Amino acid sequence: MRIFDPHIHMTSRTTDDYEAMRDAGVRALVEPAFWLGQPRTNVGSFVDYFDSLLGWERFRAAQFGIAHHCALALNPKEANDPRCAEVLDVLPRYLAKDGVVAVGEVGYDSMTPEEDDAFARQLELALRYDLPVLVHTPHRDKQEGTKRTLDVVRESGLAPHRVLVDHLNETTVAMVADAGCWMGFSVYPDTKMDEARMVALLAEYGTERMLVNSAADWGRSDPLKTRKTGLAMLDAGFAESEVDSVLWRNPVEFYGQSGRLALEPVAAGAVDVATGSSVLRGER
Ligand SMILES: [Zn+2]
Repeated sequence: MRIFDPHIHMTSRTTDDYEAMRDAGVRALVEPAFWLGQPRTNVGSFVDYFDSLLGWERFRAAQFGIAHHCALALNPKEANDPRCAEVLDVLPRYLAKDGVVAVGEVGYDSMTPEEDDAFARQLELALRYDLPVLVHTPHRDKQEGTKRTLDVVRESGLAPHRVLVDHLNETTVAMVADAGCWMGFSVYPDTKMDEARMVALLAEYGTERMLVNSAADWGRSDPLKTRKTGLAMLDAGFAESEVDSVLWRNPVEFYGQSGRLALEPVAAGAVDVATGSSVLRGER
């Protein structure tokens, strides 16, 4: 089973996790920029974080034969903090970099006017930099938040197939399917979504435009939920090619729209940690 985890926060995981993921079949991943738990007080904290996603974390993943890519953005939660507003000014120069395959996570947390503004501005940046977008949907008021998300995407002029709407469940999947966007599901150990419910959703909606991720971070989460979902699909009678669509070909197709996927893992030691550039591929 080859696996591409389209949404996982490796910054908060250990080398044991990288090893277990490699053994489970994970060969590639996308790490979206997110809220780190402790509020950041200035733009410099984001610059260092973005650099670490492009450099250090990519280097760590390469040591385990995993191709690391990232999505960068000002996350919805911190969009409410005026001390972080400047992030939107430094973001453009990061979106031009090779390891960045999407704008994300953007979207809503509490659906405030500040979140509206940051969301719309970052959708504009996605258009300008020709990147797909990873959209987080709120855990509270999920239906209303998802509906509003789809309205904002429609108004932005972005084509729906350039947008992945994530953290969906049984109450929100249909409207995203109808809108033509990609559908993301975060499978968790004991909340929000599990393997059995995921398999039932795949049986109902099919495997097209469907993405499964572990969204693993510093909370209780499991970086092997992708593989566990694949095994549950096989148990339920799905073909291996359908598992491959969900766990590999779909994320490759979605993030491939950036033109920047590098699926041969960068050899250990080949990444310049200071700049995040790959010596092998001659990137800047
Ligand atoms: Zn996330």
